[in-house]
Amino acid sequence: MEMKDEMGPHVRDISRALGGKVSEDEIERELGNYLNVYRVSLDTAKRSIVKKHGGNPADLSLGVTKTVRELVPGDPSVSLLARIVSVNEKEIATEGGSKGIVYGFLGDATGTAPYTAWNPEGLELAKGDVVRIQNAYTKEFKGRVEVHLGNRAVVTKEDDALLPAVEGGRPSAPSGPATPAKVVDLREGVSNVSLRARVLSVEAREVKVSGEPKTVHSGVLADETGKVQFSAWKDFGLAAGDAIHIEGGYVKSWRGIPQLSFDDRASVAKLAAEALPAAEAVSASPRMWIEDLAERGGAVDATVRGILIDIKDGSGLVYRCPECRRVLRKNVCRIHGEVQGNADLRVKAVVDDGSGAITAVFGKELTELLLEKTVEECIAQAKEAMDQEVVRDELADLLIAQPVEVRGNVTSDDYGLMMIVDSARVLKVDVQEEARAMLEELEG
Ligand SMILES: [Zn+2]
Repeated sequence: MEMKDEMGPHVRDISRALGGKVSEDEIERELGNYLNVYRVSLDTAKRSIVKKHGGNPADLSLGVTKTVRELVPGDPSVSLLARIVSVNEKEIATEGGSKGIVYGFLGDATGTAPYTAWNPEGLELAKGDVVRIQNAYTKEFKGRVEVHLGNRAVVTKEDDALLPAVEGGRPSAPSGPATPAKVVDLREGVSNVSLRARVLSVEAREVKVSGEPKTVHSGVLADETGKVQFSAWKDFGLAAGDAIHIEGGYVKSWRGIPQLSFDDRASVAKLAAEALPAAEAVSASPRMWIEDLAERGGAVDATVRGILIDIKDGSGLVYRCPECRRVLRKNVCRIHGEVQGNADLRVKAVVDDGSGAITAVFGKELTELLLEKTVEECIAQAKEAMDQEVVRDELADLLIAQPVEVRGNVTSDDYGLMMIVDSARVLKVDVQEEARAMLEELEG
């Protein structure tokens, strides 16, 4: 009788999952057997009974631990066992001021999903943790299921061995169908990805893996949402221009940028050339918000528009060590001591687009273009002023508070986001000219 009181909701849950085609008495008897005779967990028992009668365990809703693949939007109470892939903090505006929330991705062998913890006080989530989440709820956003941890959610840390680890550069063998993704969705730790993309470039390189020589085919893939570097650890016969469909890829961060890897466990199919947008159509650099770049953990060939708010120390005319290229301080290299340095020009700027800030590093050629003078002219100018800082000051006058557009690879590390700028322009927005043009248009 006691069992009936406790198990009643689970019996009804199983019955519901089976569409009522098995009697509750029968289910109750089977559940009793699994729990008391076979001594399996309630979770396993419920799944086993549903499977045995031809149902889908994903239809269970009460107290059953779901896999990421089994998540459906609009579930008011869901339990999961998952590994935390990423943890980010953010302040959001509320009626009473602001509050901190935590968000990121979680995953298991079947896929990954975004999560948001709305009350993270006392919740200690760390990247790589295996956690049991109970009483979360799900929602749909842009076609994918999100896990929300609200007031009722309970999160407990579990033994690491409960879920396969991502080790040795390769996650565990993918199981189940791969998760469809666009380039913009790829983040470190995401596994079992299905991606359709155009190969923009590819080259073979010899590398050593655990002392063994191996050939890796690496390059850049693109779809309409962006570009990503890839490494294929098997020769899939890829060529620039190919339209391909990869199933079973995984994402690791390489030099601060998420990179897609796939190996002999992945399948790569060539698609008809017209199945995807042409290479020219996906070669453009997508404009991205800095907030999104931070959440993604870097990107290949991104474009950012914002206000250049600061020029950091070490900008302008600098001298580099001839041995290691480190920037000298008072003719002294940190490693090689006092040396005769080589002159160079660079700008380390802070660009803010309203969603966040990024350090943008301009090399010699770009800095010469911005200043409209060569490094030799800068040296002469510094000699005349008897101050190396005049170049930096001129750059500050020229650039600070200007709207700029910068394009390049964005890396992410503990110090934040950094773009090595490939091309840049100062957006000379003439407000009066724009207003005049608009009036003329209105007047016809
Ligand atoms: Zn040096």
